[in-house]
Amino acid sequence: MITVLAGGVGAARYLAGLVQVVDPAAVTAVVNTADDVWLHGLRVCPDLDTVTYTLAGAVDPDQGWGLAGETWSAMTALARYERRAPEGSPAGSTWFRLGDHDLATHLYRTARLAEGADLAEVTAEVSAAWDVRCRLVPMTTDVVSTRLTPADGSPELGFQEYFVRYRHAVAVSAVRFAGVEHARPAAGVLDAIATADRVVVAPSNPILSIAPIVAVPGIGEALAERRADVVAVSPIVAGAALRGPADRLLAELGHEPSVVGVARLYAPWVATLVIDDADAGRAGEVEAAGVRCVVGPTVMHGPAEAAALAALTLAGS
Ligand code: GDP
Ligand code: CA
Repeated sequence: MITVLAGGVGAARYLAGLVQVVDPAAVTAVVNTADDVWLHGLRVCPDLDTVTYTLAGAVDPDQGWGLAGETWSAMTALARYERRAPEGSPAGSTWFRLGDHDLATHLYRTARLAEGADLAEVTAEVSAAWDVRCRLVPMTTDVVSTRLTPADGSPELGFQEYFVRYRHAVAVSAVRFAGVEHARPAAGVLDAIATADRVVVAPSNPILSIAPIVAVPGIGEALAERRADVVAVSPIVAGAALRGPADRLLAELGHEPSVVGVARLYAPWVATLVIDDADAGRAGEVEAAGVRCVVGPTVMHGPAEAAALAALTLAGS
């Protein structure tokens, strides 16, 4: 069995590679939920949905998230009300665009949560509806919300405000995961970590996608116990993120935005770091951080590269 800690796009592509080289039924993905958000009264879980849609082969291949062939009629219709919403009301806001087909996922999830189902049950139902064969588990069924403090002293931002509304063009001085101290790992998470042959940390944002998973009480400890069998893929290649703000956030929060910074951050619970060929010259510094270093091609241009990367992370297991 393989257990994967997953954020959004990078993790989804990695998982799509992994299921080409191992039986999908032997894969459990523990997915970040700290960027989940309520919009229009609907529970939206961006990372869970990105992983689901990607493994279903339904993802928009250019964006890496959302559904291929999506239409936007509901958002266009909503804009009529947005113009009339009272000052300060988020009702009708369209800055976070939800596609017509994607909306169905949020409608279903919200209805089931309102009936008393927990997010782990709903996630299993949604992924089954998409014929996803690996097991997708939210990190927790409790509400945890990433909050970011802008460096200029302006008020704290919710994750989607930071990421989508301001397109992460805001320097940040602190990140916290509100509610995490009382969160419990979702059913099956600790077991999936304890019993896996290998635990893989997918190429995801270390600060925004992996840190919240590790911060859930019990998960970080379970990972540290399995440290020898935990392998991570660096999301930083040649000092930069392939997409998104991971490199800037690392620097803003005092970490080196490089494979060495990632190694130092993950060292307490990761024994092996897979870094890209572009960073081969830094393998010695990664090992000096106490992390075994594997060098290879890590950029997933397509399914073949994703499968090769998955095989590299499993080598020796
Ligand atoms: P999200 O989609 O916003 O939730 O973002 P993720 O948590 O998936 O993180 C995206 C991170 O994954 C960025 O730091 C990217 O550099 C990294 N990433 C995306 N695709 C790849 C890839 O093909 N190879 C590697 N090594 N990293 C990747
Ligand atoms: Ca995400």
